[in-house]
Amino acid sequence: MAELLAASLIRDVPDFPKPGILFKDITPVLEDPKAFKEVIQLMAQDAKACGAEVIVGIESRGFVFGCPIALELDLPFAMTRKLGKLPFDKITEEYALEYGTNTVEMHVDAIKPGQKAYIVDDLLATGGTAAAAQRLIERLGGQVCGCGFMIELSFLKGREVLLGLPVKALLEF
Ligand code: AMP
Repeated sequence: MAELLAASLIRDVPDFPKPGILFKDITPVLEDPKAFKEVIQLMAQDAKACGAEVIVGIESRGFVFGCPIALELDLPFAMTRKLGKLPFDKITEEYALEYGTNTVEMHVDAIKPGQKAYIVDDLLATGGTAAAAQRLIERLGGQVCGCGFMIELSFLKGREVLLGLPVKALLEF
């Protein structure tokens, strides 16, 4: 397969948001319609192959990728949001970070019982965020058919946390 247009557009930003972290900045991909479209089409192909019935985006860069994938496939889009952002009845999941914890939420009606959900985010690191999204979806009676990321930081072994789930990443670092 020809190299992905987006591959050369990922910008490494050292020591953001704190010392020692090499941040993968995806904004140059969003500024290049050809590269962005290619990423969306490849991710949409995988979601379709998984039999997805709803696309679940993780706040906030998961929304940027998840929405066009949902539209491309003519599927509903659902959000997992950070604590306190969702207005309606919701459920909550906490997960561990390197220091402290984080909390994500979903509306109680975001997933229909039995629905096959495909989780989307820009980047897979430790897998904690996607695993929390999986728990939310399963608590609502849904079933996760796969997860898609533009980038995977494979040295952080996020796939091991998402054991049993098909995980697709377009670029590996
Ligand atoms: P994790 O739960 O560790 O898999 O972290 C995934 C989330 O954190 C995603 O929403 C990413 O956008 C963000 N993230 C973690 N590490 C990085 C990084 N090195 N560069 C850019 N985003 C990151």
